[in-house]
Amino acid sequence: MSETSDVIVVGAGIVGCSVAYALARDGVQVTVIERGEIGREASWAGGGILTPIRPHTYPTDLLPLCRSGLDTFDRWIPALADESGIDVEHDVVGLLLLVRDDEDEREADSLRAWKNEHSQPAEVLSRAEVRERVPGINPEFHKALLFPDTRQIRNPRLLRSLSVAAERGGVTFRTKCPVGGLVRNGERIIGVQTPQGEMHAGTVIIAAGAWSSGSDLGISPAISVKPIRGQMILTEQDPVAFRHVLLWKGQYLVPRRDGKILIGSSIEDVGFDSRVTAGVVHSLLQRASEILPALSDAPFLRAWAGLRPSTPDRLPYIGPIPGADGVLAATGHYRNGLLLGPFTGEIIAAIHAGRPPGVDLTPYRPGR
Ligand SMILES: Cc1cc2nc3c(=O)[nH]c(=O)nc-3n(C[C@H](O)[C@H](O)[C@H](O)COP(=O)(O)OP(=O)(O)OC[C@H]3O[C@@H](n4cnc5c(N)ncnc54)[C@H](O)[C@@H]3O)c2cc1C
Repeated sequence: MSETSDVIVVGAGIVGCSVAYALARDGVQVTVIERGEIGREASWAGGGILTPIRPHTYPTDLLPLCRSGLDTFDRWIPALADESGIDVEHDVVGLLLLVRDDEDEREADSLRAWKNEHSQPAEVLSRAEVRERVPGINPEFHKALLFPDTRQIRNPRLLRSLSVAAERGGVTFRTKCPVGGLVRNGERIIGVQTPQGEMHAGTVIIAAGAWSSGSDLGISPAISVKPIRGQMILTEQDPVAFRHVLLWKGQYLVPRRDGKILIGSSIEDVGFDSRVTAGVVHSLLQRASEILPALSDAPFLRAWAGLRPSTPDRLPYIGPIPGADGVLAATGHYRNGLLLGPFTGEIIAAIHAGRPPGVDLTPYRPGR
């Protein structure tokens, strides 16, 4: 097979699907090539919280992307609902940072100072107010910080909505089709190699998540991405007793509209290993029931793991890859790809069309 498109996108996670959707809105002919199924890797595994959960620990250069990331959701969600007919459960739910001991007090102080500095709302709640908002919470939590503007989305639905809307907009998805290398013509990359033959395009976008700097794609060392495993557990409560995301010692509980509750997540540097382990499941469950003792009696529905695409400076790679003319990177979004994927799609579409990208891309340039 030898096919030709304007653009080939490698990888159909949140980033690849967002890039394809944004390009299709510009009338660009796009083929997305995915090794497995659409949106079944990190983007499916994630929690769907639309904020960095510990922003004071991130590089400040991530902030402009986060801000614009939320603006993109505001623009895209109504359009996606129309075009796909899928409700992605984009809700402003607020996040509660729970305080029980001295270490939690210090974390709350740092986060509150950071929120003040960046003019983001934060309210202190008393023990009684915490119990009112989270009935059944362990009474040892005597205080909490509420970040009322935190949003969430149901990420598997967002993936379905984006891929349906992209396909209706003319995007072709080739699944079960691993890209095994890039096709060169002198200095220029003119396509990709697949088991079904070469596929050609004017531009190739690398959106292969944790696998983006693998030797098969031949673009390392300009980009350096490695997997960081995150394990997650699904349980449920009927009716669910709280509506905020609850955060304690870096672990969170995310209540969904239908009573499902996500318990997440681990941060493990274990290579390309996406197995669920007994030790992590045990510690996630233990901490979750320290927050809400009733969760010990809740059903264990399932557990899974995903590989976050992490970079040495924890900033993504967005833009042209030096030494590979015709190739753009859109990868390395680590813990925030669900928040940043749609805006990354807009940036790539702008670069492709020669429009200003809406943000200074210097901190994110491949080869930095
Ligand atoms: C447990 C967990 C919780 C998270 N929680 C949040 C959260 O609350 N909020 C948030 O914003 N982010 C969160 N994240 C991070 C977020 O999920 C990731 O940053 C994001 O999904 C990365 O998207 P991606 O499209 O780059 O990668 P992926 O979703 O992994 O997609 C990459 C795709 O490329 C394909 N691919 C790879 N190599 C090839 C090849 N050679 N040929 C063809 N296809 C290929 C893969 O099969 C895959 O489908 C979480 C992640 C995890 C694991």
